[in-house]
Amino acid sequence: MSIRDEVLSGSEILDVRGSAVLSLDHIKELEGGQESLNAFLAIADPEELEPYDRGPLAGVMVALKDNICTKGLPTTCGSSMLKGYRSPYEATVVKKLRRAGGLIAGKTNLDEFGMGSSTENSAFGPTLNPVDRSLVPGGSSGGSAAAVAAGYVRVALGSDTGGSVRQPAAFCGVVGIKPTYGRVSRYGLIAFASSLDQIGTIGATVLEASLLLEIVSGYDARDSTSAQKPVPSYKDAVVEGVEGMVIGIPTEYFPEQLDPSVRALLDEACERLIDAGAEVRPVSLPHTEFAIPCYYVLATAEASSNLARYDGVRFGVRVPAEGLERMYEATRGNFGTEVKRRIMLGTYVLSSGYYDAYYGTAQRTRASIAHDFKAAFSEVDVLLTPTSPTPAFPLGERVLDPVAMYLSDIFTVTANLAGIPGLSVPIGTVGGLPLGAQLLGPWWGENHIIAAAGALEASYKEDT
Ligand code: GLN
Repeated sequence: MSIRDEVLSGSEILDVRGSAVLSLDHIKELEGGQESLNAFLAIADPEELEPYDRGPLAGVMVALKDNICTKGLPTTCGSSMLKGYRSPYEATVVKKLRRAGGLIAGKTNLDEFGMGSSTENSAFGPTLNPVDRSLVPGGSSGGSAAAVAAGYVRVALGSDTGGSVRQPAAFCGVVGIKPTYGRVSRYGLIAFASSLDQIGTIGATVLEASLLLEIVSGYDARDSTSAQKPVPSYKDAVVEGVEGMVIGIPTEYFPEQLDPSVRALLDEACERLIDAGAEVRPVSLPHTEFAIPCYYVLATAEASSNLARYDGVRFGVRVPAEGLERMYEATRGNFGTEVKRRIMLGTYVLSSGYYDAYYGTAQRTRASIAHDFKAAFSEVDVLLTPTSPTPAFPLGERVLDPVAMYLSDIFTVTANLAGIPGLSVPIGTVGGLPLGAQLLGPWWGENHIIAAAGALEASYKEDT
């Protein structure tokens, strides 16, 4: 069976648990050859892996998005600015994975600094979608989603600022979870937009993505935005079921223009949840239409501030002996087009005179979006929406049209603006390509969306 068939049939893809050494060689061979997906920017040296036989992840290989700091491997953020950069310290999530027995398989490709929806903005070339290599894998965690979908690893970490875990998971036919803001430590995650960024998990199944989330979650004294909340068992939540659960269908996420085949698959998912014992009712989130402009004002404002450190003094290009003139020469082009576009946008919306009109308005809009969710979750337990308006699109289709690219995030950015958890779970195919349903839950309610996703996944599995 080809990888494409396996992904689409949702069968056990390629269980690489066990011998890490063999598997890494296998990945290296596949990724080094003509058929490379360019999912990895660095692959660990098998000799350097310490085989662990204890812990919930004993011997399980985990791929990490290359904006998560690891010792022993480069951390580039997909940027030539950080090419060859080796972090002197390790992200808290990486320490947690190692403690749980996990093995770091390598670092995965991404849109530069997480800015993009297709992984085409990487300085190291795009990643291909393993389901159909002429398509993007989604982004910005496209390398992580592709690595899981291709069966290189069963689980991976990504980061989600506006959908970068959920949308690539949907495009590649795997499961992606973005937890509540503050659930997972961001210590060692290179910042894009600090008030929106969360590390999330990608897995071949709901169980695997949930287990990984359980392992990386929890308070960290090194991240003052991480929450001192107990972490429930997400693993147990997978089989909790949806008996008595009330699922809201937000009308704004099903606009008239929505592709009828996307709508049909969502309707079917709804029916399956009802069959499993849930109640479904419509809800309204009236500020949804402002989400994309709100997100792109706030994310670019924060990015312009976060990226100011790459001034060539601390990171990136150094002043060459030949002097400043050469430095300008060398600096030119060190950030890709999208990153530069965002720094300029962000600087503009923060500039005096425009600050209140753009940044202030966006902050107020953000509060209204969060309020919409608060009101909705007083009536329903979780929300069901499409993850993205379309399945994966062709490589190159949207690179020259930033607005079209930004609109691929229309259903995912709201969760980051409000800080609520969201996940994407496969619900079949449109024109042969995987489609994801998004489940959104109230703050700290990861267990509810995991339970609903577990029920959906089980229902589809019964068909096969
Ligand atoms: N695609 C969105 C953006 O370009 C989200 C990216 C992300 O979640 N890192 O900003």
